[in-house]
Amino acid sequence: MRAHPAGPLHGGLQIPDGIGPQPADVNAVDPHVWPHGARRTDGVLTIAGAKVTDLVADHGTPAFFLDEDAFRSRSRDFQASFDGMDVFYAGKSFLCSSVVRWLDEDGLGIDVASGGELALALRSGFPAERLALHGNNKSAAELTAAVDARVGRIIVDSFDEIDRLAGIAAERGVVQPVQIRITVGVEAHTHEFIATAHEDQKFGFSVSSGDAAAAAERVLATDSLELLGLHSHIGSQIFDLSGFEVSARRVVALLATLRDAHGVELPEIDLGGGLGIAYTSDDDPLEPKQVAASLREIVERECAAARLAVPRVSVEPGRAISGPPTITVYEVGTVKPVVLDHGTRLYVSVDGGMSDNIRTALYDAEYTCVLANRESDARPVAARIVGKHCESGDIVVRDLWLPGDVRPGDLLAVAATGAYCRAMASNYNMLPKPPVVGVKDGVGSVLLRRETLDDMFALDTGLAGTNEEEAR
Ligand SMILES: *Cc1c(COP(=O)(O)O)cnc(C)c1O
Repeated sequence: MRAHPAGPLHGGLQIPDGIGPQPADVNAVDPHVWPHGARRTDGVLTIAGAKVTDLVADHGTPAFFLDEDAFRSRSRDFQASFDGMDVFYAGKSFLCSSVVRWLDEDGLGIDVASGGELALALRSGFPAERLALHGNNKSAAELTAAVDARVGRIIVDSFDEIDRLAGIAAERGVVQPVQIRITVGVEAHTHEFIATAHEDQKFGFSVSSGDAAAAAERVLATDSLELLGLHSHIGSQIFDLSGFEVSARRVVALLATLRDAHGVELPEIDLGGGLGIAYTSDDDPLEPKQVAASLREIVERECAAARLAVPRVSVEPGRAISGPPTITVYEVGTVKPVVLDHGTRLYVSVDGGMSDNIRTALYDAEYTCVLANRESDARPVAARIVGKHCESGDIVVRDLWLPGDVRPGDLLAVAATGAYCRAMASNYNMLPKPPVVGVKDGVGSVLLRRETLDDMFALDTGLAGTNEEEAR
């Protein structure tokens, strides 16, 4: 084992590496991170007017609790702030029929990234003209479904796809509106695996290689496709507008190139999503109003310089709408102090893990959590929240301070788990997926029910006829 220099002392124990300073109050419910109005009532974490102990009594653990007013105020805030532009919610971050209906009522569009997401939006009654279909490998069946539904735009991502889509639209005698996904060579300041606009990755047509211009030329020459504009998505969990600024400049430059070469001024650009949110107290996200004002200003300035009419701008926030309103509540099962040569870490195991939140394992994502069923003035200890899966990387919150008397039966709530957690959930170790419960005015209602063993086993043909629900 590597020798560590002695760390600072903490109550006679040394503090393990990696953990930040102990907060002034480990029971605090930081309004920066938790859904609007979250607080403690008689010591119990309360969201949308409901105590999590009451929610758990009704819905069990692990469970996602979604503050409906918080979700809707975020989507409305984007819609209002981006006045004169179009907001497409990135459905891949979290989608269910209730979310689709809220977005419809509030006038947003939705980005879908597969035939499944498309089908969910359509079955929930969402108007096809406000849907955009994304993906680097859309199948013929997915493209056909989108064309037949008359989705408002398909964002094309390869020459193969342009040809495939052109054929499908031509066969049906329709003209399908498209945007071209371009790669502008901007690397957003995030973890490598979620930055998508640098060159060596699978998405988009490179501007610098000339592929983006060639793709535009091919679409312009295709009767069954209508070229609406250019699309650039530079990454995720971005806190700094400079990436968008460079991206907008390069997108507008390509608009000017296309005008000069082909005499067309494309009417739309899309600058993608990726706005960061506060997963922990240290994160400092931008306000939608601020982002909208800057993007508007940048696009107007660049278009004026290139003597282009200002195109219609759209954006695609996902996590910035769906992330903050939702929390995950787990029950603690075991508590194990692990003595290291440079301190002691308390491993707190919960009844879910990487099957309901893969982001920590996948991206080293940071989360924060609190003891939710009670407050405690026990001396805080350095803790790690881990799941129940057969992987040592099955970590939910890598490093945080928790009251030292945390024990089996306690509830832990993790903040800002609305995006890419339920959406990326798996059945690893045959754990059923947790429910998503909407909470409004103190009342919880199930949006997605908890998966059952029967739901999972229904796919196993060798178990046909063993369904316990049906047998009852
Ligand atoms: C994932 C994605 C988004 C949304 O990203 P967030 O980080 O959730 O805002 C938007 N547009 C495209 C094309 C994406 O792939």
